[in-house]
Amino acid sequence: MNSPLDLNRVLQVLKDVLSNKGASGLHEPQFNGNEWEYVKECLDTGWVSSVGRFVELFEAKLEEYTGVKYAVATVNGTAALHICLKLAGVEPGDEVFVPALTFVATANAVTYCGAVPHFVDIDINTLGIDSHKLADYLKENARVGPQGCFNMITGRRIKAVIPMHTFGHPVDIDPLMEICEKFRLEMIEDAAEALGSLYKGRHAGNFGIASALSFNGNKIITTGGGGAILTNQKPLALLAKHLTTTAKKPHQWFFVHDMVGYNYRLPNINAALGCAQIEQLPDFLNTKRMLASKYLTSFKCVDGITVFEEPPYARSNYWLNTLILDEGHENQLDKLIEMSNEMGISTRPVWRLLSRLQMFSSCPRMNLVTAESLEGRIINLPSSATLGEGYEKT
Ligand SMILES: *Cc1c(COP(=O)(O)O)cnc(C)c1O
Repeated sequence: MNSPLDLNRVLQVLKDVLSNKGASGLHEPQFNGNEWEYVKECLDTGWVSSVGRFVELFEAKLEEYTGVKYAVATVNGTAALHICLKLAGVEPGDEVFVPALTFVATANAVTYCGAVPHFVDIDINTLGIDSHKLADYLKENARVGPQGCFNMITGRRIKAVIPMHTFGHPVDIDPLMEICEKFRLEMIEDAAEALGSLYKGRHAGNFGIASALSFNGNKIITTGGGGAILTNQKPLALLAKHLTTTAKKPHQWFFVHDMVGYNYRLPNINAALGCAQIEQLPDFLNTKRMLASKYLTSFKCVDGITVFEEPPYARSNYWLNTLILDEGHENQLDKLIEMSNEMGISTRPVWRLLSRLQMFSSCPRMNLVTAESLEGRIINLPSSATLGEGYEKT
């Protein structure tokens, strides 16, 4: 039997944690660093767009922070994912494994390549791709030959897998790397939510052939809109830069483009914001971990729910704090979200499973019991870095 869930008790604890914190949006940006100075420099010099010093500087700061050798800044995280898939050699008609529980961009990017997302279940301990289920599926249904890995059921080539680090919690990468090696798949990390998160001491985004970050307004740092491609391979970094800058051959005045490229470059004014934001990232991480720790301890003695805690191998950025209702309490989810929002506390349900969205309804999927169960039980809690101020790490 599950313990009963006392909604008023949950709301009271939420209120206590967030008391005297002012606005408690889900994830609000904070601009207390050099943002004004750097953006002013763009305006004063006129370099707001595709030329200027901040793009390269931001890329260098990302490389330094993540330990990934090359960063290429992009207009947003979705564009970064799109290019990552191109770098991995994903072609029209290919199949790409994607978790059923992720933001729609992960699967959209696959579709931009003319490829087909294949939805994989998630693991309740990581909220990321369930590598056991993926391995079982492949063992049963895939054949590896000289042309790569083929799905015997759909007849398509399976080219890649995109693990996503949900709410900033790194998935268990090692078993996935083994699967990729064995079945000759490329791994692309959707690390959009995971800037500042470590897997076994190494920053997320280091493990795939290429990885995507996002700096959308609600992410841990923001450039207004923005993203980045990370890769440890120089030829891929050069190709990423070329593809994201309309594939223009360098020349003082001639416009010669040698492939169909994209206008995915991050404008200088956005990169200026990014430079100021990343300087504050260690502080954001610090206060966010204090908030997470406060949520964890405060909800420990509340029956019927758990606060999701980073897996033992990980150091998470706790981008969004997460309540999980025990099984059997699904019917209380709407009510809890409604009541907390009425109190000015911005809670949110998790994304609708991508496998259930109309445009992906005919895409292949494996058994998704865990994702289906969690879809109705996850609530994200207010997680802005400022909300952790004044709390201690425990
Ligand atoms: C934010 C996000 C993206 C990218 O979003 P953009 O808004 O395009 O920057 C991709 N995947 C996930 C999981 C995300 O959370």
